[in-house]
Amino acid sequence: MAEASSIRPQPAASIEQWDFEADVVVAGYGIAGVSASIEAARAGADVLVLERTSGWGGAAALAGGFIYLGGGTPLQQALGFEDSPANMKSFMMAALGPGADEEKITDYCEGSVEHYNWLVDNGVPFKESFYGQPGWETPFDDGLMYSGGENSAPFNTIATPAPRGHVPQMSGKRTGEKGGGFMLMKPLIETAEILGVRAEYDMRVQRLVADGDRVVGIIAKQYGKEVAVRARTGVVLATGSFAYNEAMIQSYAPRLIGRPGAAIEEHDGKAIQMAQALGADLAHMDATEVAFFGDPQLMIRGILVNGRGQRYVNEDTYPGRIGQETLLRNENQAYLIIDEASYEEGCAADSSTPFFRFQPKWVAETVEELESDMGLPEGTLQSTVEVYNRHAARGEDPVLGKKKEWVKPIGSPVAALDLRNFTAGFTLGGLRTSINSEVIHVSGEPIPGLFAAGRCTAGVCAGGYASGTSLGDGSFYGRRAGISAAKG
Ligand SMILES: Cc1cc2nc3c(=O)[nH]c(=O)nc-3n(C[C@H](O)[C@H](O)[C@H](O)COP(=O)(O)OP(=O)(O)OC[C@H]3O[C@@H](n4cnc5c(N)ncnc54)[C@H](O)[C@@H]3O)c2cc1C
Repeated sequence: MAEASSIRPQPAASIEQWDFEADVVVAGYGIAGVSASIEAARAGADVLVLERTSGWGGAAALAGGFIYLGGGTPLQQALGFEDSPANMKSFMMAALGPGADEEKITDYCEGSVEHYNWLVDNGVPFKESFYGQPGWETPFDDGLMYSGGENSAPFNTIATPAPRGHVPQMSGKRTGEKGGGFMLMKPLIETAEILGVRAEYDMRVQRLVADGDRVVGIIAKQYGKEVAVRARTGVVLATGSFAYNEAMIQSYAPRLIGRPGAAIEEHDGKAIQMAQALGADLAHMDATEVAFFGDPQLMIRGILVNGRGQRYVNEDTYPGRIGQETLLRNENQAYLIIDEASYEEGCAADSSTPFFRFQPKWVAETVEELESDMGLPEGTLQSTVEVYNRHAARGEDPVLGKKKEWVKPIGSPVAALDLRNFTAGFTLGGLRTSINSEVIHVSGEPIPGLFAAGRCTAGVCAGGYASGTSLGDGSFYGRRAGISAAKG
């Protein structure tokens, strides 16, 4: 047998004995893996999941739990929000590019209501309650929230705003430890178990087994021993992103060097490399989600400026968009300028992220003093605040389009919060896949027997991001991968 560290596919002819066999073999038991397993089992396949850790869940079980769904889901309708697949597509094409995959987005939007119903039918609970406060996620157990800046500039002029962040009901949340993602994973895992899906834990997938062009199995390592796993009809790769592979981050998404976030260490890019070694094509490897550690309840009440004292983003938008604008286009330099009254009002509001609520670093009576204390070039911050206040006096923000309800002149005393280098994120690029979750070879043809979903693939996001698109496309295209792999 080849060295365990080798990533090259192993010829099937070299396997003397298979240690495990199934029709469909799924690598990774997170959201894409469990969704694939359920659909493969329902299609009549015998399914075996290989999971590297000692339990199911992956990043998905730690997640806040937003699932990006729309087009008129029963939850949207019950809460009085109008949406359609075409409206959802207009938003996603505008917000998730440049380079968003139109075929995938069209397919995803058209299948979104059915996918919501599938989740509910498989036991995922959603509470009929909308959370409308600025925030990363609801601190309560509400089922629906804006999660991508749909109701903010520029998207509120491109598509009719509709909230699409669907959150499984979960009380007693603790961000990053116990969130809606757990209540997504738990019922799906229970469903898979009822359907007879088998799981082998502490099983680290290493490389693919190929018979000519066709993938027929996987080599994995369990308790220090290499094992050969035969897949009679198909292999599904669902092992997550490459956020924790330093060399890949250096090569493809260098803005994230040293700042992986909303991912787990097992997201080491291995599935991408295993498939690349068979000639798989990649897409959007530079695309990243970027979280920003400022409290939306404070940001929305002030103005965000970059290292030159200039505003660069409407503060009422999706905080992940603020993160991308800050890290990718403003050298990770951000300060929040806010007056005392607004700071106190923001601190008194509900917050899903009270730990992102920081003390001001500088406080002054005038903007001129504040600018000088912060070491900004003379006149930069003063002119920014002067222009903002001039329009804000009329309740307008013609520069960046912040909504009227949040536009208010900045008064005195005035403070600055130091939000430089306050970002982290995960990668959105990966294997190029078809809408049937086939892994596409650089020739443009599917690789026989090989399917993939989740963050080891390029999904519906290219440049932009909306919360819920990872659990969303991971579950949606996970299902497709399971159906396709069962057919072989
Ligand atoms: C705190 C937090 C909050 C988040 N909030 C949201 C949110 O609200 N909405 C949203 O859409 N996304 C959110 N995300 C991101 C989302 O959870 C992930 O992007 C998503 O789970 C990716 O799905 P996946 O199936 O590709 O990976 P995962 O769900 O992580 O599953 C991958 C599985 O593969 C296993 N694995 C890895 N390597 C191997 C190997 N070599 N062999 C065998 N198994 C392997 C892993 O251990 C893991 O169990 C959040 C993430 C975190 C951590």
